[in-house]
Amino acid sequence: MIIQFEPNISQESRQIVAEEMKAHKYKTTEVKTQKGDYLVGIGKEHFDIRKIGHLDGIKDIHVVSDDYKLVSSKWKVNQTQIDLGDGIKIGDGEFAIMAGPCSIEGEENIMKTIEHLKANGLSIMRGGVFKPRSSPYSFRGMGLEGLKLWYKLAREHGIKIVTEVMQVSQIEEMYEYVDIYQVGARNTQNFNLLDELGKVDKPVMIKRGISGTIDELLYSAEYVFSAGNERLMLCERGIRTYERASRNTFDINAIPILKDKTHLPVIADPSHGIGIRDYVEPIALASTIAGADGVIFEAHEVPDKALSDGQQTLSFDASSRLIAKIRKVLELNGSY
Ligand code: PEP
Ligand code: MN
Repeated sequence: MIIQFEPNISQESRQIVAEEMKAHKYKTTEVKTQKGDYLVGIGKEHFDIRKIGHLDGIKDIHVVSDDYKLVSSKWKVNQTQIDLGDGIKIGDGEFAIMAGPCSIEGEENIMKTIEHLKANGLSIMRGGVFKPRSSPYSFRGMGLEGLKLWYKLAREHGIKIVTEVMQVSQIEEMYEYVDIYQVGARNTQNFNLLDELGKVDKPVMIKRGISGTIDELLYSAEYVFSAGNERLMLCERGIRTYERASRNTFDINAIPILKDKTHLPVIADPSHGIGIRDYVEPIALASTIAGADGVIFEAHEVPDKALSDGQQTLSFDASSRLIAKIRKVLELNGSY
């Protein structure tokens, strides 16, 4: 059950509501976000919600049968839209195309990518500065200094930044320089990190765990929301299956399923999803048709020389072609 409080609810009224819930054997948790004030109740008893709905300080009350509550579409009819400022929005009819290298590699790489994005009318650049690599001997990113350089150049050109945060201690040091914190597939269930991102007033994109179920992804989002941050989006990036013909198995099913289960924007990452450059385009287009709110993919000026994930990275020409095709699909779909 989700109880939405009025913004000015008194402490006494909160107490009365909590006691009434307790009388019905509900365990309650208060959730205060930048946008709302809620009481989440977990319990089994079915009772007439009007018994609580008439109490002082209650704006609305919702019965949510899903195990995750605040991220469920069962209570929030309107889709969540994330506003990055400067007219850049994601979700609820605003489709976002985000592109950039797997890893940020230096000034030239940043500038060439920014020029590519601007030439194609894009305004969100992806790239890792803290890289979770399977082997400790692979390039592990430029770190905070790389992020600062990227931020300076991005801001000069009106570009927003989405980049991965790997651990709690990085949240604060990155804060000034990111527009969207990305939680990587290897950290989807790092509950300490999720809790701390709940306290930040910047958007978060959570990737699906390498072996994570759709419900587990939703629970991860519930962690961030219930810790206070509603500005969330989810990302399908492929899962580990027995299939070895592709790096991961992109779960196209996840797009409509997530769109149905949650009000949060759903983003597709076809680069990590399939892991093979030549097949990124069909997966990106399929995700667009399937109802995603955006795509994020890897692009580089010379993919074969990229310091990481070159095999799945598009050239700028291929990226421009994909962007044009996505826009055509969006026109066809009409409803975006
Ligand atoms: C990335 O997007 O840079 C990345 C490492 O992706 P994932 O966490 O999905 O593997
Ligand atoms: Mn990558």
